[in-house]
Amino acid sequence: MSYLVLARKWRPQGFDAVTGQEHVTRTLTNAIRLDRVAHAFLFCGARGVGKTSTARIFAKCLNCEIGPTDTPCNTCPSCKEITAGTSMDVFEIDGASNRGIGEIRELRDGVKYAPSRDRRKIYIIDEVHMLTTEAFNALLKTLEEPPKHVVFILATTEPQKIPVTILSRCQRFDFKRIPSRVLIARLMEILSDEDVRIEEGALHIIARESEGSMRDALSLLDQIISACGNDITLSQTADILGVADRKWLHDLMIAVLSGDAAQALSVVNDVYTYGTDVKHFSAQLVHFVRDIVVIRVGGDNAHGTTTDLSESEFALLKQIGMQRAVDDLNRYFRATLSAAQEINQSRFPKLVLEMLVVRLCTMQPLQPIDDLLQRLEMLEKRLPDGFVVPNGGIAPGPKAQHKLTYPGQPAGNFAAAPMVVRPTPDAIPTRSRPQLHVVSPPEGKGTPTHDNLETKEINLASAQPVTVPVFAPAPPPTGNQRDDGVSSTLVSPEKLNEFRLFIKEQDAPLAGTLSQAQLSSESGAVVVQVKTDLYAQMLAPTATGGKRLRELMRLFFGSQITVRVEYTENEFETEYELRHREKLEEHQRLKAEARNHPLVTKVLQLFDGEIKSMDVREEDQDE
Ligand SMILES: [Zn+2]
Repeated sequence: MSYLVLARKWRPQGFDAVTGQEHVTRTLTNAIRLDRVAHAFLFCGARGVGKTSTARIFAKCLNCEIGPTDTPCNTCPSCKEITAGTSMDVFEIDGASNRGIGEIRELRDGVKYAPSRDRRKIYIIDEVHMLTTEAFNALLKTLEEPPKHVVFILATTEPQKIPVTILSRCQRFDFKRIPSRVLIARLMEILSDEDVRIEEGALHIIARESEGSMRDALSLLDQIISACGNDITLSQTADILGVADRKWLHDLMIAVLSGDAAQALSVVNDVYTYGTDVKHFSAQLVHFVRDIVVIRVGGDNAHGTTTDLSESEFALLKQIGMQRAVDDLNRYFRATLSAAQEINQSRFPKLVLEMLVVRLCTMQPLQPIDDLLQRLEMLEKRLPDGFVVPNGGIAPGPKAQHKLTYPGQPAGNFAAAPMVVRPTPDAIPTRSRPQLHVVSPPEGKGTPTHDNLETKEINLASAQPVTVPVFAPAPPPTGNQRDDGVSSTLVSPEKLNEFRLFIKEQDAPLAGTLSQAQLSSESGAVVVQVKTDLYAQMLAPTATGGKRLRELMRLFFGSQITVRVEYTENEFETEYELRHREKLEEHQRLKAEARNHPLVTKVLQLFDGEIKSMDVREEDQDE
């Protein structure tokens, strides 16, 4: 027997074999059983999702010798001819190549004659949106008063291009893209029958690339089988389809989250060197970031809405998403999307991609306004007594001026991480716009005093970004034994907590990473335990996050305390999980309280009712 491509060989021959369109086949089956078959149908949906196959099966149902039936025999002459495309009473017309008025007139003239052998004359017009306006008008006449023996099945990928007059005379069915898991299950059936072995990851790539189209998926499989034979691996599949290895996407995103532009650029270079199409890669990156956002927002419920992901990848994307606020991820997405569009038109796609990753790496996380206010309050508390604040200012203290001195505080600490404040004028009512004196450190390394400090008055409501120095929390160590929680060997738990707060203030992304870790102390060292490789990688001494961690540790504890990051399989509760659990417990407590409220119990009693559901209103959306 001659070779048949998979898509034709496995073309469904009955409604039960049509994958992922149960909502359509069920309705058609019922119409046949109840003998309520309309005379015109419109099948809409993306390419390769089963429109034409369903139309042919439906034709068989109507014309099968044993029919009308919802399970055609596939053995009678009528069924066989329809399968082969040679039936005298079933006409398949390609709307794209027969789009003129002439062809439709011909069709209209043929319609009035009775079927040559079978029960019905069935016209299947594919890509019907391609017809000219005149052709549509001619078709309309026939659709208005069709002979009893005629059934029209119009199929289209673009229903919005079809005149309303035609739409209103058809029974419309919308075919869905086939969900990945359904598609994969079907591919596995077919492959096991074809005696082909394939790695699961490869199936996920095929599902992703075919975008819910069974025909596309089978064509890709044909291509891969003819290249690889009967044993197919993930990397072969990625190579043949020119799809970037998912690992590159992961590596790139990890580099971005650590702010490591050099590492990110080297990933881009790998992508380029291995011959992956940069345009394709950037498109994948858009989907990838989109999935991260969706998972960040939807959590485990996002399974159905993500592009096809394996379990382990889903977990990884979830971890990645936790590193940033939703707004930040959204900014990544917008930047990636617009770069991808630019890459498509650019003569230098690689360069555009490079500039994109640099931009992503240097993007500062957004500061929630509440955080900013909190920081201002903290700043204000740390101001020494007597710091000058004009009327209406927010810092307390008498008006007398003192010299500001910071014994032992190196100037470098003073402004370790400039914080950019972008106040929104709307957020602060005009009347109470606070004014604040901000003290900038001098250029020199000497001890800052009031005399050589530059004092600026800043209106918080002005739209210009303002640089506010952030005070370092603790003076550097002066002796071996001190009373601030750090002994020469062991760091107290309170001090570790203070350290977390310090990190949060200095480096929000790093604090996000640390919220997934457990901090403890041992002789001369702080031990950072993490549960996954991802975090261990991000906090490694050579990674940007790791470098920053060590830098801030030195700043906070001095140089005699070192840091050790270790991967652990021990179960422990991360700060993030702790907060999550506390929130749940709080919700449960509130619900119990509400349930036992006298008013509620009274109402329940009065109406003999029951509580169907209860929600805790979130006042604070910030996690
Ligand atoms: Zn039959």
